[in-house]
Amino acid sequence: MIFDKRLVLMITDKNGSRHINVSMIFRQLSLYFLLFILGVILFLAVSISVFNSEIKDVNIKTILINEQYEKMLKKNSYLNDQINQRLEEIALAGDRIDDLEGVIGVSKDEEELEKNENLLSRIDIASITGAQKAFVMKFIPNGRPLDYYRRISAEFGNRMHPILHILHKHTGLDFSTQVNTPVYSTADGVIDFAANGWNGGYGKLVKIAHSFGFKTYYAHLNNIVVKNGQFVKKGQLIAYSGNSGVSTGPHLHYEVRFLNQPLNPLNFVKWDMKNFDSIFEKERTIAWQSLLTTINNLMGQEKWDRQQLSLKEQN
Ligand SMILES: [Zn+2]
Repeated sequence: MIFDKRLVLMITDKNGSRHINVSMIFRQLSLYFLLFILGVILFLAVSISVFNSEIKDVNIKTILINEQYEKMLKKNSYLNDQINQRLEEIALAGDRIDDLEGVIGVSKDEEELEKNENLLSRIDIASITGAQKAFVMKFIPNGRPLDYYRRISAEFGNRMHPILHILHKHTGLDFSTQVNTPVYSTADGVIDFAANGWNGGYGKLVKIAHSFGFKTYYAHLNNIVVKNGQFVKKGQLIAYSGNSGVSTGPHLHYEVRFLNQPLNPLNFVKWDMKNFDSIFEKERTIAWQSLLTTINNLMGQEKWDRQQLSLKEQN
């Protein structure tokens, strides 16, 4: 054995001489070296396990982020599809309106407008009786479709779409109001359409067909209380307002149409018995005189019928 061969150093100085066993020093040094190596190994082992757990954490985070990214990709492609679908619907609706204009012959020709203005000048406003006015106000849309609302949040006409961000024609009037505000029919008529499903951007929608070619639309509803084919009176509860369909907030989208052509509903909302003549000035696309004559004839017929009936009863 190496440690058996003892090497003894003798150091001599002014204090005398000392003996040092070299093999003992060698043993101690070996022990220190071993401890040092063990320390290094321990340190490395701890470091590696810490690094490993950190790597695991990072890996888990990477997986989560990847999952979120994939989810967002899916959502993004879904939204893109939805936007494309809406755009197609809008394009289709535009085509349909153009077709209808062609079929019905509604045009905004200068000539046509001039003709209507001539008709307007021929309206004998003074000769319209109270009974005639009452008849008109019962059958042609007028007044507000709700008792209360916050404000008019979008007017009729061209605007930037708040969701699709494209220029389009806003075919109605938006009344900003809380969900479940009662909605009333603005004239006597028959429910032409009442559906809770998906009706394009309109959401839950009621359409009412009125006399003499008028229609009203009530859109983005929360709850509909009338059925297809049901006759309704002016002021009758038809639905509760909501936020369904393509809508940025709770509101009622209200439309007034004549021969399917959307008119500015504001003129009809502001129309009442007191300013009865205002509509003839504001809405010039309708042959009012001809309409009034038709109503006059209807009322005359009714009077004649009543006279005949009373004559029969007397005989
Ligand atoms: Zn609207």
